[in-house]
Amino acid sequence: MPESLTLKSLRKAADAGEIDTVLVCLVDMQGRLMGKRFHVSNFLESAHEETHCCSYLLATDLVMNTPEGYQATSWEQGYGDYVMKPDLSTLRPVPWMAGTAMVLCDVLDHHTHEPVPHSPRAILKAQIARAQAMGLTAMMATELEFFLFDRTFDEIRKGGFRDLVPFSGYNEDYHIFQTGKEEHVMRPIRNHLVAAGVPVENTKGEAEAGQAELNIRYAEALETADNHTIAKHAIKEIAHQQGHAASFLPKWHADRVGSAAHVHQSLWKDGTPVFFDVDKPRGMSDLMGSYVAGLLKYSADVTFFLAPYVNSYKRFVPGTFAPTKVAWSVDNRTAGYRLVGEGTKGVRIECRIGGSDLNPYLACAAQLAAGLTGIEEGLSLADPVDGDVYSMTDVPAVPHTLRAATDALRGSSMLRAQMGDWVVDHYTHAAEVEQESFDRAVTDWEIARGFEGA
Ligand code: ADP
Repeated sequence: MPESLTLKSLRKAADAGEIDTVLVCLVDMQGRLMGKRFHVSNFLESAHEETHCCSYLLATDLVMNTPEGYQATSWEQGYGDYVMKPDLSTLRPVPWMAGTAMVLCDVLDHHTHEPVPHSPRAILKAQIARAQAMGLTAMMATELEFFLFDRTFDEIRKGGFRDLVPFSGYNEDYHIFQTGKEEHVMRPIRNHLVAAGVPVENTKGEAEAGQAELNIRYAEALETADNHTIAKHAIKEIAHQQGHAASFLPKWHADRVGSAAHVHQSLWKDGTPVFFDVDKPRGMSDLMGSYVAGLLKYSADVTFFLAPYVNSYKRFVPGTFAPTKVAWSVDNRTAGYRLVGEGTKGVRIECRIGGSDLNPYLACAAQLAAGLTGIEEGLSLADPVDGDVYSMTDVPAVPHTLRAATDALRGSSMLRAQMGDWVVDHYTHAAEVEQESFDRAVTDWEIARGFEGA
């Protein structure tokens, strides 16, 4: 089976009895695949043109509630349909599911067939188009960190999410013997993803018991976000097939290291990396300097798109490799932004703020929105920080709560100019809904703290 499919090769595979099912999917606000399972004959006959879904799919929360108050979708508007338009360049086999292929869709307005502006894929495409208009191609890579647990999601849920047991017993960072015990999960993840056209570079153990990382070769931004989404889905599904839960919750335990999704970024022009200038310190071009200065200047504005839930902010703890400060460094992992590939053609900036729960389309789009604005404004970059950034008091902090990041998002004139009020208002509402939902919760901590002593 080839790594990508055309309608012609899909028909051939269907005739040979190799494929009977096509997953037709959009990517929702949380970065999950939502859609339908088509019989291949119907997909080939008509659904490859378009199919339809309820508009609430771009206004749900993490547990699939449909909160009120969105301008885009409401009882008053009758929760109508969107068009799901397959992007046939993403058609591919799903080797870990028997007889299955999949395709990702763009989401279009039912009446006008224009892109739905708050669809994550549309938001990223708009920033890519902005880069293209400047003659630039955005190359990106997102790293996927997650935890493997002993039992499946369903078993863990039925147990009330208590007594979570990570798959391994101690820090397994780069640990070949320890990760050997996980190969019944990780080997099929690597091999099936490569067979589905996702260019996996490697997997490795991460710096906590049960923690793993998957790296995918950098690509153009849209492909990177597609690859991340498909890989995350595959990791959860293959782990489930093997009797495990793979969780992307950034902080599952107060005393354990959290999970990140670092975003590597470089800009290219006609196949040449324009972040590289051999004559400049560290090989960083002036253009790269302005881009990184934009990332720093607008870091608070875009934090919500890197850390979208209440739990995301529990990761920002000094001494855990998660950044707490908005600063840039040369290969120093305590800063929010790290220069990687110093003095080489591979020179790039790595944003370390994002948690494993980020939506890659929104994260990449927000990084581009900030960085490209830095270029447009001709910003110059201050010197990098050195040493333990955690302890520095003269550099700004990463917004420490969802509430603070929501305020920065709501008030961002940069994002309102670059993404539009509609998009900013939609995601601000998502953030408010999440915060209000948490504010209503009575947590275990409060009960243990005050039950007797209050
Ligand atoms: P490290 O181990 O220091 O994090 P890696 O060499 O593993 O760095 O690379 C991390 C990610 O950066 C990989 O996904 C890789 O494909 C990506 N990457 C490499 N070069 C570039 C580049 N020029 N632009 C964007 N991403 C890149």
